[in-house]
Amino acid sequence: MRVPLIAGNWKMNTTVAEALELVRAMKDELEKVISVEKVVCPPFVSLAPVKELLAGSTIKLGAQNLFFAEKGAYTGEISPLMVADLCEYVIIGHSERRQHFHETGDIVNKKIMAALKAGLKPILCIGERLEENESGKTEEVVAEQLSTALVGVADPDGMAIAYEPVWAIGTGKPATGEQANGTIAFIRQNIAQVCGGNVAREIRILYGGSVNSTNAAEFMQQPEIDGALVGGASLKANEFLSIVNQASIIKHSK
Ligand code: PEP
Repeated sequence: MRVPLIAGNWKMNTTVAEALELVRAMKDELEKVISVEKVVCPPFVSLAPVKELLAGSTIKLGAQNLFFAEKGAYTGEISPLMVADLCEYVIIGHSERRQHFHETGDIVNKKIMAALKAGLKPILCIGERLEENESGKTEEVVAEQLSTALVGVADPDGMAIAYEPVWAIGTGKPATGEQANGTIAFIRQNIAQVCGGNVAREIRILYGGSVNSTNAAEFMQQPEIDGALVGGASLKANEFLSIVNQASIIKHSK
């Protein structure tokens, strides 16, 4: 069985003090849920202090991005080695980065390769925009994003995929569980073609897009959905905890 994974993407929210407060507010309760992998992804500046607070904890740390070069004259960037020093996970190819920072499929591919080389576990985000969804191009778009991101990746060990329809992110309008399950099944078939059946059976594919404590169960009940990448709701300790608890109960009752 694939271990469910719930990751919180805090985006550009929380000062260091607020990040520590948020972790303190949920740490003890999250700790009790051992059947789900729990990851928090605060902004870069909070990674080191949060790591210190999480020492010895089962709650894991992720970054929201990285640059693909190992070091050098790239003012303002953070290298895979720096991220790997602090984190186990890294979100790559989030639609907000594709949209606001012009990250192309080629850049996403370079970041995936660099992250894997540094021993990080990438959470690769893919998903279609509203107009692509409405014109029936969802599968075409996610297949293209996936194959571009995985060029040259022989063994995506530890990697997870987050299917995040762009129209569902931060809008309060999630996909239905059934829609998300269908697209995730399609993504899994594609992974089988690109990386082989074993990888496809083992890789965790998450749903992301306006997941909260009220709708989490609908997604967790779907057989192809292995967890969630949670944005807004991960900034509220009770919401995140409730999502993690629901994942644990639902996924382990099957
Ligand atoms: C995200 O940031 O990946 C996300 C899914 O955000 P939200 O849950 O707020 O839609």
